[in-house]
Amino acid sequence: MKLQAVKGTHDILPDQQAAWARLERAVASVLGRGGARRLSTPVFEYSEVFAKSVGESADLVVQKEMYTFEDRGGRSLTLRPEFTAGVLRAFIEHGMYTLPSPVKLWSSGPLFRAENVQRGRFRQFHQVNLEIIGLPQALADAESIALLYGVLEACGLTSHHVRLGSVGDPEDRAAYNAYLREALAPRSAELTPTSQERLRLNPMRVLDSKDAGDQALLDGLKRPLDMVGAAARAHFEQVQAYLGDWDIPFEIDPAIVRGLDYYRRTAFESHYSGIGAQSALGGGGRYDGLIESLGGPALPGVGWALGIERVLDAMAEEGVRADEAPRPALFLVPMDDAAVSEVAALAARLRRRWHVEYAYVRRNPGKGLRDADRSGARFAGLRGERERAHGTIQLKQLDSGDQREVAEDDLVSTLLAALA
Ligand code: AMP
Repeated sequence: MKLQAVKGTHDILPDQQAAWARLERAVASVLGRGGARRLSTPVFEYSEVFAKSVGESADLVVQKEMYTFEDRGGRSLTLRPEFTAGVLRAFIEHGMYTLPSPVKLWSSGPLFRAENVQRGRFRQFHQVNLEIIGLPQALADAESIALLYGVLEACGLTSHHVRLGSVGDPEDRAAYNAYLREALAPRSAELTPTSQERLRLNPMRVLDSKDAGDQALLDGLKRPLDMVGAAARAHFEQVQAYLGDWDIPFEIDPAIVRGLDYYRRTAFESHYSGIGAQSALGGGGRYDGLIESLGGPALPGVGWALGIERVLDAMAEEGVRADEAPRPALFLVPMDDAAVSEVAALAARLRRRWHVEYAYVRRNPGKGLRDADRSGARFAGLRGERERAHGTIQLKQLDSGDQREVAEDDLVSTLLAALA
């Protein structure tokens, strides 16, 4: 059997790392400036942690997609399929509810879902996640959306857009779910099996179906936003007013829903057209009640998760330039056997300051300079018998071809001046 990566997982190759690094810098700086602090949680948790949030009736699809296994002590463990549950578990476990409110936490790392693999849908993928805990006001919803927008902007994206909706308060949600169940009941057999299951356990989620037949059955039916009560509507309008004030563009999407039962009021997604059917870069919403149900105090929260692979896909689509591959400052060429350990020692010294590479075996000057060129280095340094006798290096600037002999002791100052 030929060994290869597990289906739905992928290697992040050296050439892709610059784009990742750019995204990570954008995230750390935008979220940091917004007052969020980073929290890292383990990639697996006791399965109960997820049972309360993604499990039960909440999101059937995710529930089925969880990688759950027993450890040697017979405890059920699950590889995290999302961040929120683990982040809130840590928030409660470490008593972070005693910190000044709001508490803003961001996380980043791999998640695992046994999905049907396609473009933008993997079994190990990565997200950036933000939670703002403690504020019931619309200001928190708006700020969380603004931070999502800010991250995407800092990644160099220009044509992403926010879709904003509201699923209302729990009673509005319940009323809408009852309405949809009744409206679809006569033709429920025509829905896809997933939608039938959703209709039974969490009807609102039928709206998320990408199936044209399902969507045709939904034609002409009310959307969650049509049934939002007065309090949730006022909250929704406030969120819009803040976003308007801050020049964050958004469009209202009356059909937007979030998978988990605990979501209430604000729901939003960020989309990018041009990366295929899976155009959602990220999504989030308000989840008042979830912290309490996980055994913590009754604190409200709002948050989002952003799919890193999809953002990178959008960055590539938009031609965002990540940093170039790193170029060595100097490539050392040993021209005889004795010079190999000499250039290695020199490299070890110079690497305190610069990216330095060298040939590990004796090279003639022609081949050595070709190696140096291929490495992308700014300078080549040649060392052979003659240079040993003089205590020097032949330093060649590779773009201009200028060459001069530099005493070993002057190498640092020469390079400092040349590379400034
Ligand atoms: P969710 O946690 O399902 O709300 O997803 C939030 C974001 O994570 C989505 O908008 C996607 O960008 C990304 N995402 C979710 N599932 C996957 C997956 N299986 N593969 C890649 N990205 C995903």
